[in-house]
Amino acid sequence: MNQIPDIVSRYGRVALSAFPTPLEYAENLTRFLGGPKIYIKRDDCTALAFGGNKTRKLEFIMAKAREVGADTVVTLGGVQSNWVRQTIAAARHMGMDAVAVLEGEEPKEYQGNLLLDKLMGAELIFHGPVPQEEEDLEIQGVCPITGKVAEELAARGKKPFLAPLGGATPLGALGYINMIDELKEQMDAMGIRADYLISGVGTGGTQAGMECGVRLAGMDTKVLGISISRHTRPKEEEIAEMCGDVFRFLGVSWPELFPGEISVCYDYVGAGYGAVTDQALEAIGLAARLEGLILCHTYAGKALGGLIDLIRRGELTSRDTVVFVHTGGGVANFAHTELF
Ligand SMILES: *Cc1c(COP(=O)(O)O)cnc(C)c1O
Repeated sequence: MNQIPDIVSRYGRVALSAFPTPLEYAENLTRFLGGPKIYIKRDDCTALAFGGNKTRKLEFIMAKAREVGADTVVTLGGVQSNWVRQTIAAARHMGMDAVAVLEGEEPKEYQGNLLLDKLMGAELIFHGPVPQEEEDLEIQGVCPITGKVAEELAARGKKPFLAPLGGATPLGALGYINMIDELKEQMDAMGIRADYLISGVGTGGTQAGMECGVRLAGMDTKVLGISISRHTRPKEEEIAEMCGDVFRFLGVSWPELFPGEISVCYDYVGAGYGAVTDQALEAIGLAARLEGLILCHTYAGKALGGLIDLIRRGELTSRDTVVFVHTGGGVANFAHTELF
């Protein structure tokens, strides 16, 4: 039995986009690659300032911000962060101010996500590089960096709300649990079933949500994450742990997930986060020319590059059906015109 609708209905949610996002058959890409049937879940088409996967997480996280009476949202992310862009857009949509602490230096030219952050009038603080350990603390809600900003805002009489980096919390995971319910309904209506659900993995919050979702919906679809960056700790371990946290948070009793039940592929990271790979560039070109889909080299392009290589390696075959989750991020291309 599908338990998702009942669980999700217990939580506050701000409507930040129209759902469902389209589920499209990528006929040309499928034919060109000669492997599995490829469907694209168009989560790049959410309504928040050019969209992306963070919108689903923000619907639940920002409901919390509203509930506690916040007037300013504070968050952290890269200079070209899709998370930061969508968080600022959500705050503005809800009539709140936004402060973003950006991991990096101020560039000469504002482009892509950063241009949109500025256009939406967020206060932008260029913090320089942030070590992985501090980022991890931010996700855990300890907030060594954003906490200071929030204190200063509070001292000025503001009511700040800290939005966790990447939205990778149990509350944020509800967004991707709910996406599974939406996807299941679309697949049922189209008369298809997916063997694999594939997307790029950053924090792993999206995958954790989908892993919990397929289990709560009673589906046998395998979730396969393509890692887009290197990590000190195996993501399988972290995602299994996140799933446990999510189930506890939801009050669902579920057997503990083991890292071996989670699949993350690291073969397509290249030199690390944001580093361009030939596979990503090929995938971006193919998606654009064959399907009119816009991917970026940091996330969805790297993930599709992985999917394409898995087909070439014979690990995905014409007997399979794959749903590729397009998590958005295409606006970052405007900040990397030298690549194209
Ligand atoms: C954040 C992001 C991801 C990764 O999502 P996580 O939940 O952090 O793993 C993938 N694609 C795009 C475009 C993103 O912005």
